[in-house]
Amino acid sequence: DKTLHIVGGGMAGSEAAWQAAHMGVDVVLHEMRPKVETFAHQTDDFAEMVCSNSFRSDDDEQNAVGLLHWEMRQANGLIMSSADHNRLPAGGALAVDRDAFAQYVTEKLRALPNIRVEYGEISDLPTDGHWIFATGPLTSPALGDAIANETGTDRLAFFDAIAPIVYADSIDMDVVWAQSRYDKGDTEDERRAYLNCPMTRDQYEAFIDALLAADKTEFHEGETATYFDGCLPIEVMAERGRDTLRFGPMKPVGLTNAHKPDDKPYAVVQLRRDNALGTLYNIVGFQTKMKYGAQTDVFRMIPGLENASFARLGGIHRNTFMNSPTLLDSQMRLKSRPNLRFAGQVTGVEGYVESAAMGLLAGRLAAAELLGLDLPDVPQDTAMGALIHHITGGAEAKSFQPMNVNFGLFRPVDGLKGGRRGRKDRYKAYTDRAKAAWIDWLEQST
Ligand code: FAD
Repeated sequence: DKTLHIVGGGMAGSEAAWQAAHMGVDVVLHEMRPKVETFAHQTDDFAEMVCSNSFRSDDDEQNAVGLLHWEMRQANGLIMSSADHNRLPAGGALAVDRDAFAQYVTEKLRALPNIRVEYGEISDLPTDGHWIFATGPLTSPALGDAIANETGTDRLAFFDAIAPIVYADSIDMDVVWAQSRYDKGDTEDERRAYLNCPMTRDQYEAFIDALLAADKTEFHEGETATYFDGCLPIEVMAERGRDTLRFGPMKPVGLTNAHKPDDKPYAVVQLRRDNALGTLYNIVGFQTKMKYGAQTDVFRMIPGLENASFARLGGIHRNTFMNSPTLLDSQMRLKSRPNLRFAGQVTGVEGYVESAAMGLLAGRLAAAELLGLDLPDVPQDTAMGALIHHITGGAEAKSFQPMNVNFGLFRPVDGLKGGRRGRKDRYKAYTDRAKAAWIDWLEQST
């Protein structure tokens, strides 16, 4: 059977259906709405934007998400063409009229003769046929159970608990030092996988005051259920007692300040390497519901992070996502059941654009497989490639949490200045390199 089944008509599923249909494959698009609703969707349209109406920056020279827009436009992306048709004035950001946006996507998909839409929930993982699951952060509970049965419950999460991620080159290495707690680890590399930021008593007390005073966001209705298991926001820990953090994620034991060995820190904030490239570090245990502006202010109080740039800020949301680095192969196929691909937010990318981007790739890869075409690997130096590489292998599997596209996922360009000074040139070099590689890939794969 040469039919491609796609489950979920959201950002990823819609784009995957469009791409596969354009390659000449017959597609059945399964969408559970309106028969089964989620707490966030309001309409029956495909590609409904459940919250903000923004696709973020449209700058394709200095911004990684803008580059992703560019790459999707070059690949005849449906999500981008709808966004461009329904654009609202918003400075450098790409904001859209959300209803018109989703209606445009819905009409375009319905107009293609080789796409058939079936309304209804898919609640099992099929044993045969070719499938893409793009069921998103609010994957229906029955399907979530079926996925967890296949992957093991520890490989599928129902909430994200995202700690902020810092660009390595914005950390002050004169203040922090590399050391794992109690020097744990079998290799020198493992023993140096953590960076430590020391705090005096005064710094700690000021930090706790700032945490308690910071603006926080509320949960969406229906979102909270069981999130408190093991992923308390740091500000909630601080509310439980001024010393809770100092005996929790900020405990100073088992660590010696390499810059001042005789100075025992009162508390320590640990950063853990977040990707194989070593360009990103997450702040260990610092999941938070603080507003973004408050987060940057509060986290820059941490010694060594005064000038930190953040690849992403923290958050906690209802979000079904899998441990893709261990579960998916480089083509987004489930290793244990290669007739099933996954795409979109359920694979551990975060955001409308990233989800649509992974749908675009999954649609093309699945269609190529059905047609017996051999596509070259997606080049790692593109935004698409950086993302797919991160989720299917580049990310640290143990601490895997959903990721936005950002330049920290890109391989460095040789011979350019690091730090803040060279940033503009560096980003331009990344985007130039990415565009050339993406055009090349598109030419080779048609
Ligand atoms: P979705 O767009 O959610 O599409 C998944 C589709 O699968 C849905 O249509 C759903 O009905 C369907 N489905 C689920 N289970 C089944 C099943 N068993 N059978 C058949 N169909 C099924 N991202 C941003 O960029 N900006 C934001 O402001 C933002 N706010 C968000 C707010 C909330 C409350 C949530 C939950 C997410 C938010 N996100 C936001 C993340 C956003 O959901 C994703 O970026 C994006 O929609 C994910 O695309 P997707 O295609 O993976 O999933």
